[in-house]
Amino acid sequence: MGSIRSELESAGLVFPDFRRSNVEVAKEVAKGDGALIGNGRSKLFFLTIDALGYDLLEKAVAKSRLLKGVFGKGSLERISTVFPSFTPTVFTSIDSGLLPSEHGIIGSPLPIKEYGALRDIFGVSWWPAANEDAVVLFPQPKTVLQMAKHKGFFYLQDEKIVRKSEKADAMKSIRVLPYISQDDFVFQARKLAKTARLVYAYIWELDHVQHVYTKTAKQGFEVVTYLLERLAEKVIPYLQKEGWRIIITSDHGQLSTKRKDAIFLGPNSKIMQDLAMPPWGTESTMFFEVAESREKSFETRFGQHFGNRFLLYDSEEAIRSGLFGRGYVKPALRYRFGTHIAISKGSYTLRYVAPSSTIGKFGLGHHGGLTKEEMQIPLLIL
Ligand SMILES: [Zn+2]
Repeated sequence: MGSIRSELESAGLVFPDFRRSNVEVAKEVAKGDGALIGNGRSKLFFLTIDALGYDLLEKAVAKSRLLKGVFGKGSLERISTVFPSFTPTVFTSIDSGLLPSEHGIIGSPLPIKEYGALRDIFGVSWWPAANEDAVVLFPQPKTVLQMAKHKGFFYLQDEKIVRKSEKADAMKSIRVLPYISQDDFVFQARKLAKTARLVYAYIWELDHVQHVYTKTAKQGFEVVTYLLERLAEKVIPYLQKEGWRIIITSDHGQLSTKRKDAIFLGPNSKIMQDLAMPPWGTESTMFFEVAESREKSFETRFGQHFGNRFLLYDSEEAIRSGLFGRGYVKPALRYRFGTHIAISKGSYTLRYVAPSSTIGKFGLGHHGGLTKEEMQIPLLIL
């Protein structure tokens, strides 16, 4: 069954490396040391920067004297994220220690049997709250709870995300510090430098910047650089002076799509005739539930229309290849993976536009697939 892996790799795509991943880094942070993060310092500042791909960090450091001086002194390695390289998927894995095959959060919207519908998961808490939902979609953030056992632990998180997960059970046992802006982040991180012993911090803006402007455009790249320079100037040296070890990683990188490479599917698209329900997933990775006895027709049609831009697999085979982690998915979550999965061969994107919605404006920066730019992330230790 090694064929999916070799086919992906010969198409220039990257198969996730679960042993050298951000999920393992988080587990080591919770433990206090390990093969990836090393040991030697008692105070750990674990910073996850959304959409900081390895290529992006490398380019930013090469082009900024300030970044070269501060980040260039650390140890920088290329590690892997999990698949799909999609924020809720990856943070569910980082926070819980479970792989996508084990938690089944593989896109948004996601089919949820209990609701009988596709459900957008951006609006809900990614940590489970017993009293909030009849259906618990997300696993407990075991890795974060383990971090919280350390004396002097703080979770430095954007206030919008804190508000969303306010009712989560885990929030009761964790010391959470919401920050309201990048300047506030700087202030709070510096304050923690003197009082805390373990910090799990998160910054999301870089993802937003790249979705809107793309990392290849001057505006996107410069805004990214400013944010990194602010950290390099105002936070990192301060923490280092206080004896902290700083571990920086990300959830995924981003890619820029050309407008002509963005494909839109609607209820009248030909392949819809073979489907039992609308497709779901991410822009570079789509799941399909093919109607009974329509398999051949779907595969032929998909090949004709999209075969040059997407690889199509039987979902069961993709699961068995280990693409999502363990080559097995619990029966209760199996339906979320559909019957087929399509993976972009490059920067091509696929979106389903429901009858009630319009294409509207969409950013040309995206992620969710298996390209190097999306899958390879930095592990920077300072
Ligand atoms: Zn993200």
